Amino acid sequence: MTARVCVLGSLGRMGRAVIEAAQGRGDVVVSAAIDRDGDMAASFAASDVYVDFTTPDATLAAARAARERKTAAVVGTTGLSAEHERAIAELAQVAPVVVAANFSLGVNLVLGLVKQAARVLGPDWDAEVVETHHKAKRDAPSGTALLLRDAMAGAGYRRPIDVSSTRAGAIPGTHTIGFDAASDTIELTHTARDRRGFAAGALVAAKWIAGRRGWFTMQDVLRG
Ligand code: NAD
Repeated sequence: MTARVCVLGSLGRMGRAVIEAAQGRGDVVVSAAIDRDGDMAASFAASDVYVDFTTPDATLAAARAARERKTAAVVGTTGLSAEHERAIAELAQVAPVVVAANFSLGVNLVLGLVKQAARVLGPDWDAEVVETHHKAKRDAPSGTALLLRDAMAGAGYRRPIDVSSTRAGAIPGTHTIGFDAASDTIELTHTARDRRGFAAGALVAAKWIAGRRGWFTMQDVLRG
């Protein structure tokens, strides 16, 4: 079945990438595309799922509007506080939501590798995350850098993990995870060339979400 997708933040960098990516797929259709001042209630009523790459405040407003209609959500906006996440959790009680600080397949693969590396290397190694993004990005560290750090910590790696951020130019996003011991250095780097990888992943999630209930991550989507 074709998923009817409302693109929230349709004039933004990611919103435009999602609309473009949808044109290349036969299993999703853009049923509404709205930005600031758009009518969320009417757009959600015409859609099965909304894809949100906006700002935390817009994410909160959208989650509340979606709850009334039980509209499914794919949320990629980063920099969410506990209050924003609470609004999404309330939506997740009545509709499915996928929330991911990074929808790229490549980054989600790196997440798995980082968990494995942290488990194998153990606490004698130091670890760091270094990320660089375009100068318009509002949150620092990036949501992806925090995901990567938490993946290491969650695997039992207990040393303090340094996270450093640089904002410059038009770089879509680069994350390097380094492990260092007296004997060796290991580096894993993911470089996003443009926003197509994020947009494609968000649409995979928008399609996957149908018929589910609760809060999911991109790792859940990729497990199938
Ligand atoms: P952007 O500033 O280019 O676009 C955001 C858009 O949201 C703008 O067009 C803005 O007008 C719109 N907007 C603001 N308030 C709104 C409202 N109330 N209703 C509807 N639209 C509203 O930003 P961007 O680069 O597209 O990034 C957007 C978000 O997505 C950021 O938080 C960024 O960190 C995140 N992001 C996530 C991923 C991922 O894979 N999860 C990838 C890239 C970016």
